[in-house]
Amino acid sequence: MSFNELGLSPHILRAVKELGYEQPTPMQQQAIPAILAGQDVLGGAQTGTGKTAGFTLPMLHRLLANHGRGGRRQVRALVLTPTRELAAQVASNINDFAKYLDITTLTIVGGGKQDVQAKKLKAGAHIIVATPGRLLEYIEKEEFESHDIEVLVLDEADRMLDMGFIKDVNRIVEEARYRKHTMLF
Ligand code: AMP
Repeated sequence: MSFNELGLSPHILRAVKELGYEQPTPMQQQAIPAILAGQDVLGGAQTGTGKTAGFTLPMLHRLLANHGRGGRRQVRALVLTPTRELAAQVASNINDFAKYLDITTLTIVGGGKQDVQAKKLKAGAHIIVATPGRLLEYIEKEEFESHDIEVLVLDEADRMLDMGFIKDVNRIVEEARYRKHTMLF
């Protein structure tokens, strides 16, 4: 199977091709059509299987397909990760795949400069990649608007639970209650 057969936007396929990806991995062959069809996905996939592209590519396609719903400032997708390193990696992947799309991404993590992040959050982004603790601080200060979140991704959810984030994650899942689409890896 080739990437062209998956039904992804040509603007996304162009970025994928430039990254040198020739064929979707087995995980991507399974996950991408299901996510494009709007199904909630529970994926048991290890690092190295291509899971980041597996959820990011169809997520970008769906955000693109529903474009015009919100303005530039509205957060439409939220990706939670257990660590700031993983958040940075996922955000970097999203930026690579979104190279030809008018979609913005912001990373909200502990250890980052809080005032700088708050300012950027106020300016808005379509996709937020965050660690649970820091995001919750913004939620509690009412500096994070979650009403327009369409897609919620819990990446390495098992690790988030191992790290004791269950209460924070539950709070954030509840905060994103208007979402239409949930993915858990
Ligand atoms: P991940 O499992 O998401 O951490 O991805 C592992 C590595 O595989 C990353 O360096 C990706 O850029 C790369 N990768 C993901 N999907 C593909 C693909 N279809 N073809 C080639 N490399 C890929």
